[in-house]
Order: sequence, then structure tokens, then C-alpha cells
Amino acid sequence: MYRVEIDPRVCSGTSNCVEDAPLAYEMGDDSISRVIVGATDADLLIGAQACPLQAIRIFDAQTGKRVYP
Ligand code: SF4
Repeated sequence: MYRVEIDPRVCSGTSNCVEDAPLAYEMGDDSISRVIVGATDADLLIGAQACPLQAIRIFDAQTGKRVYP
């Protein structure tokens, strides 16, 4: 299971993550993306890989190891 951090200082609201993984990410009112509860690990990773700014960091929830980027 993954744990996701979206860096609000880096996210610029381009929506690539939402377009590529609409079941995992949505845009907030503040134009910063956020994770949708219940998203699968596969979708979380797809969205993270779509971010041109690498604003989405993914970790293994159990070990804490970084999975992406
Ligand atoms: S793709 Fe990256 S910069 Fe664009 S909304 Fe998603 S997290 Fe933010």
C-alpha cells in the first residue's frame, strides 16, 4: 500500500495527474491536486508519473521507502 505526498509548493495545477489517473487524483479549490480516498496503488503511480514537476511523491506505507520518483 502506498502513502502519497503532494508538495503544494511544487504543484502548479497543470492537471496532468487528474487526466491520466482520474480515479486517484482530483483538483482542489486551491488548484492543487489531492488524492481521492480509495485510489489504487497502480492509479496513484500512474498519476505521479504524469506530473511534469514531480510534485507527487510516493512511499511504501509499511516500510516508508520512497517508491517514486
Ligand atoms: S500533474 Fe503535478 S503539477 Fe499538475 S496538478 Fe498534478 S501534482 Fe500538480
